Amino acid sequence: MNAEMPVNADRLWRSLMDMGQVGALPHGGCCRTALSAEDKAGRDLFVRWCREAGCEVEFDVVGNIFARRPGRDPARAAVATGSHLDTQPHGGKFDGIYGVLAGLEVVRALNDARIRTEAPIDVVVWTNEEGVRFGPPLAGSSAFAGVVDVEQVHAGMTLDGTTVRDDLEATGYLGREQPGERRFDCFVEAHIEQGPILEAERKTIGVVTLVQGLRWLRVTVTGMDGHAGTTPMDRRRDALLAAAEMVLAINRIAREADEWARLTNGKFEIEPNSGATIPGRAVFICDLRHPEAATLDALDRRMQEAMRGIAQAAGVDIEIERLMNKPPVQFEPKVVETIRQSARQLGYASIDMLSGAGHDAMNVARVAPTGMIFVPCKDGLSHNEAESAEPEHLAAGAQTLLQTLVARAGRAT
Ligand SMILES: [Zn+2]
Repeated sequence: MNAEMPVNADRLWRSLMDMGQVGALPHGGCCRTALSAEDKAGRDLFVRWCREAGCEVEFDVVGNIFARRPGRDPARAAVATGSHLDTQPHGGKFDGIYGVLAGLEVVRALNDARIRTEAPIDVVVWTNEEGVRFGPPLAGSSAFAGVVDVEQVHAGMTLDGTTVRDDLEATGYLGREQPGERRFDCFVEAHIEQGPILEAERKTIGVVTLVQGLRWLRVTVTGMDGHAGTTPMDRRRDALLAAAEMVLAINRIAREADEWARLTNGKFEIEPNSGATIPGRAVFICDLRHPEAATLDALDRRMQEAMRGIAQAAGVDIEIERLMNKPPVQFEPKVVETIRQSARQLGYASIDMLSGAGHDAMNVARVAPTGMIFVPCKDGLSHNEAESAEPEHLAAGAQTLLQTLVARAGRAT
């Protein structure tokens, strides 16, 4: 533990608990969907804390918040960190919030130690990471990275019938700064792991090297509706039966591939969905993930071949559409190495790992050198009110973040 610029574990924990009171739910979680009244209250609290810590706070046109701790050299690009404050409807107190408040704790700890950096440090809140009240998810970081147009985000309708622009205006977070105006030296996002690996391996810090790729296929199988009592078994064109065979076959392919492949058929619809009618139509989603683009391609191809073969043998028609294709994102090796060294110097047990979930950092990686720091969370649970983490692990992640940001920003005094 570096005694020179220590983060304050109690203060970080108190801030997390205080933020957890905003939009609090009965079972310990939070509901602060993006740009709702609760999200506004959470944002206002964060902005107040940042100003009290001496930061200059600005918003951009999609409501991303940038709290800047000035550096000695204002001409230098900011060393940036942050995450999101919005939650799922039954969200926890840590997913996203930890990354934002770990950034704030870095600022407070540097203030305590009277340390000035050469480059400024920006703590960022990205708008609408979760995509609950309106789409797309990761909206703020997508706009920042130029993946979506500002107009597209503004015109989006919310569940409450307002536009996103209306909400930005109503909450007071419609800024003038355009995406791309602000340059980052780098961006480092701290986040709870949302999975079980660090806890199982008894490690404190996960050095994230990449975010795995994700692909969605929608498979439509068309057979023929028929009478359950009068149609002989050998004269049926049962879409569900063929689809069921497909699900088994592609799961076998995923299991036999390697330990990294992930396939989920989480959504399934059949028509007419009636007890006495042979299903004439089945539609299902394949959610396929893998860290390597080439393997993702190969698995996609093999699965499609297998499903087409089954359709032909069963005498049904098949249509396969690709709904989403997000390639794996490799984080910048120098940033990753700085995180790894920081954890090592501080004496924390760490491992390299990949992220199974998407994060704002994967968008920012398109426009700035980027990395991520994971800390363990209880039972790997997230998107759940019971989401929890140990104060000492959260502090270790914030301390690693501080070392990393200072290493990038350079010390002036
Ligand atoms: Zn998150």
